[in-house]
Amino acid sequence: MNPPDPLELPGRPQIENTTPSRHLSHSAEGRTFHVVIVGGGITGLATAYYLQQYAPPYVTYSVLESDGRWGGKIVTENIHGFTIEGGPDSFLTQKPAALNLCRELGLEDRLLGTNEAQRKVYVLLNGRLRPLPDGVMLVIPTRFTPFVTSSLISWPGKLRMALDLVIPRRRQDGDESLASFIRRRLGQEALDKIAEPLMAGIHVSDAERQSLAATFPRFMELERVHRSLIKGMLVQKRQMARRTGPSLPLFMTLRDGLGELVSALCARLRGDMHLNSSVVHLELADGNRATSWRGRTDGYWVRLQNGQTLHADAVVLTVPAYVAATLITPLHATLAHRLRSIRYVSTATLSLGYRRSELDHPLDGFGFVVPRREPSHLMACTWTSTKFLYRAPADHVLLRVFLGGPHREDTVALDDERILNLVREELQCIMGIDAEPVLARLHRWQNANPQYDVGHLERVAEIEKLAEELPGLYLTGSAFRGVGIPDCIAQGKNVAQAVLSMAMKHVVH
Ligand SMILES: Cc1cc2nc3c(=O)[nH]c(=O)nc-3n(C[C@H](O)[C@H](O)[C@H](O)COP(=O)(O)OP(=O)(O)OC[C@H]3O[C@@H](n4cnc5c(N)ncnc54)[C@H](O)[C@@H]3O)c2cc1C
Repeated sequence: MNPPDPLELPGRPQIENTTPSRHLSHSAEGRTFHVVIVGGGITGLATAYYLQQYAPPYVTYSVLESDGRWGGKIVTENIHGFTIEGGPDSFLTQKPAALNLCRELGLEDRLLGTNEAQRKVYVLLNGRLRPLPDGVMLVIPTRFTPFVTSSLISWPGKLRMALDLVIPRRRQDGDESLASFIRRRLGQEALDKIAEPLMAGIHVSDAERQSLAATFPRFMELERVHRSLIKGMLVQKRQMARRTGPSLPLFMTLRDGLGELVSALCARLRGDMHLNSSVVHLELADGNRATSWRGRTDGYWVRLQNGQTLHADAVVLTVPAYVAATLITPLHATLAHRLRSIRYVSTATLSLGYRRSELDHPLDGFGFVVPRREPSHLMACTWTSTKFLYRAPADHVLLRVFLGGPHREDTVALDDERILNLVREELQCIMGIDAEPVLARLHRWQNANPQYDVGHLERVAEIEKLAEELPGLYLTGSAFRGVGIPDCIAQGKNVAQAVLSMAMKHVVH
């Protein structure tokens, strides 16, 4: 079941049919500037929203989405009182773009924080759940007693973590893998039991390949400024405690799920919005290869799978990098090749609803993560109805299991029945759950998680440089400068500003 589509309103302009034609709209000077945004996920919708907010009337836009619904990875289903997120379930509040957008859209009253009274995360260790000690911030211990008394890390492991206090800074500059960084500062055990399942898990990445600079630059900064991560984190904790004003939960969502954000955005957008509109390739409208802004083209022809064509003065591609590569191969083979070097992995989420009375487990936390060394098919399990209110009807609970990822990708290809059975078997062993779920919803995400491998930022800088050779073409979204919803929204806003400044020059010229 897909979220409602608030955009399929009667009377919206339709795409021109097979004969290429210019999009008609008029500026005061008689000149228009039409932007085609490819992809209706959060990046594409945010781009459209900010373009509409900032742009003068002569700038018009279309959003083309191949699927039959808006939102891309954001899929919320409200079924029989359960609120099920097939993709993301919340956004980080430390990066303000998502929070600000919710506020701008009038969703302030709908914001819902995590249930802080139950903030506890477990780690699966030899088949048993052990709590992450209180005060561990991602992987850095900041409270003495819970850390030393924790059964998660061995004594030699704890002593090795404490060596962070004396280990010198790294001499070389530049990127390194998350695994190498954590091993160097806090030791192998902290990597295996905490950093790999939690920090690599957030990015669905292989810690040995995951770029620290692209995914946790704050950790590099902590080492650069304070040398010791523990000392640095304690300083930051004290600074935060001194701040006045209400503190927000680290993660927030909306009362009825993140689909509310998609619906609210779509309800605001007044451009041409087209579902079931898959773009197959782009062509330069003047038929020549442009090499600079001065040698600019007449824009692009955007060809759709259904044979239709749209003219664009600027094109914003928010699709996965490998899709963008296919669309632009005829225009710039080198750029396409670089785009293909961004790897993707597949994941799946399985949401399971139960009657509360049929579960003995207290569900006293946000859930558990699974280190790769554990012989398990699961990556993590969120105890959704504990983490957030309003996620299950009265007397019921909702769990969500993550499958796939870099070390367990084969699981995603199994058939539904097999996935359900193996998850139930594992939940029986780990949490003692024998009950029959009253609801099960599986969402597969094939080649959906971009991998920020070591050197990612340099790769992206090179891609952006090459893209300058195609004036009016913008590449943005989760493949490039952040996978989280706030990063995607911020990228959409930035690209809207860049397009706008191009539009201004275009009309002036
Ligand atoms: C299971 C899962 C859990 C996640 N959890 C979180 C979380 O809790 N918090 C968080 O902040 N982030 C989370 N993320 C990451 C976040 O959801 C994504 O990075 C973000 O939603 C990506 O948005 P996007 O618009 O860049 O891409 P997408 O959402 O992928 O949108 C791209 C759109 O382009 C469309 N498209 C593709 N090809 C074409 C074509 N040829 N023509 C036209 N349209 C096309 C697609 O159908 C899609 O709608 C999660 C991701 C997954 C998969």
